[in-house]
Amino acid sequence: MNTDELFKKLIAHAKEYGFIFPSSEIYDGLSAVYDYGPMGVELKNAIKDYWWQAQVRLHENIVGIDSAIFMHPRVWEASGHLSAFNDPLIDNRDSKKRYRADVLVEEHIAKLEEKLEKEVEKGRRRFGASFDEAQFRSTNPQVQRTLARILEIRVRLDVALNRNDLAALRQLIIDCEIVCPVSGSRNWTDVRQFNLMFSTRLGSVSDEANVVYLRPETAQGIFVNFLQVQKTGRMKIPFGIAQIGKAFRNEIVARQFIFRMREFEQMEMQFFVRPGDELKWFDYWKSERLRWHLALGLDASNYRFHPHDKLAHYANAAADIEFAFPFGFKELEGIHSRTDFDLTQHQTFSGRKQQYFDPETNESYVPYVVETSIGVDRMFLAILSAAYGEEALDGGETRVVLRLPPALAPVKLAVLPLVKKDGLPEKARAIQQALRFDFNCQYDEKDSIGKRYRRQDAIGTPFCITIDHQSLDDDTVTIRYRDTMRQDRAPIAELRDLIGRQVDMRTLLEKI
Ligand code: ATP
Repeated sequence: MNTDELFKKLIAHAKEYGFIFPSSEIYDGLSAVYDYGPMGVELKNAIKDYWWQAQVRLHENIVGIDSAIFMHPRVWEASGHLSAFNDPLIDNRDSKKRYRADVLVEEHIAKLEEKLEKEVEKGRRRFGASFDEAQFRSTNPQVQRTLARILEIRVRLDVALNRNDLAALRQLIIDCEIVCPVSGSRNWTDVRQFNLMFSTRLGSVSDEANVVYLRPETAQGIFVNFLQVQKTGRMKIPFGIAQIGKAFRNEIVARQFIFRMREFEQMEMQFFVRPGDELKWFDYWKSERLRWHLALGLDASNYRFHPHDKLAHYANAAADIEFAFPFGFKELEGIHSRTDFDLTQHQTFSGRKQQYFDPETNESYVPYVVETSIGVDRMFLAILSAAYGEEALDGGETRVVLRLPPALAPVKLAVLPLVKKDGLPEKARAIQQALRFDFNCQYDEKDSIGKRYRRQDAIGTPFCITIDHQSLDDDTVTIRYRDTMRQDRAPIAELRDLIGRQVDMRTLLEKI
């Protein structure tokens, strides 16, 4: 199955089994906005819970907050979002479609890279066993020409973006002969800057002073509360503040399902440190965060670090954790050393000191900040795509199985009476009623047992128990494991411990 096909199947599966629906679908949907269904909300909540417990419960020096989505408009002046949270956009006059100018160029580069790899493959086929890839790459004239072309375009793109030179960016699109994928024409408008913040009005008076923004990140709610949290919690540096909440960005091109949405959720943690210590903590958080990901048990080859070569003006180090999504390696989480930029800006704009008195050094200073920032929805997509599998079974059947980490699975246990008579449903119900206090159980008596197993595999339920006639005699059931499909006999009295142990969040937290 190619990756495009896999991605389409994943999206269809997410809808069919109640994970994710397009928003307002009866009105044909709303672009880049999605709703989470009954299974989706369980998985999403479990992801948030895993992050929260790992950050807040396991670190004595990290506390949480929940700040409002609306903030004073000056916050966004201070943070730089009002003036600089822009993407360069360009329209095609024939198709009337809108694109991110830098993305058009990036995609053009990706095509050239693909061409280059094809050339290498051709060489491999031609030379067979004697093929020396490194030598081929450094000497083949066609490869060299494409490499030089890629380099030239990259440099021009970087210069144009760094200088905010929109005319140069447009010229690059023209020179690369990039065509609109819809109209096929090169009839481009000028490039313009487009601010990604959504605005609305607060209260009933319609003058400019009442404009407020939907926050484009949760971090600023942490910065403006930094001193309150430090003082009320008697926090000593180094310490962190964590928050999970909605963020909104009017993305120009929002696609790839829940990877890039206009309304999404972030899990951010700002860690306040002594100036000079920030790079040590940056390294610490890079490895700590990777460990959090790896503890989920998805294949380690799904993750890689991508250090930023181009740093934002306020950062002195930055790296992304990238994930192998169905459409390639892309940013999943950012770890940034943001210096004292944000707190200093808020100090200037609010006129209130944002300093910490350090009892160990007897000095006051504006702390430096290392942040970890991850999108809940991207994490959801990462887990879903890594968990999704199709398997051929004996007898020509196939099954779709979501190999979700048991602690995150929406339903932990399915309770299935073998037949709908002879007192088996009553026995099954009694087990489900008792175990629902410990974990999420689903009762299902409809259709053949095979079909019921398939349904549970499709939503990632790690355990199914079947209640049969023997259960009435000896109080044992068949327990079926999702991944291996193995079936064992187990006493009903032991189910709580047996399953509880494996679906407990603790299983993940202990591995970090
Ligand atoms: P990108 O380069 O993909 O636009 P970014 O660098 O702007 O992302 P940050 O501002 O660092 O992203 O936001 C932190 C995290 O929030 C990202 O790593 C990502 O997981 C998530 N995120 C950002 N924008 C979106 C979005 N439009 N939809 C879903 N998640 C998002």
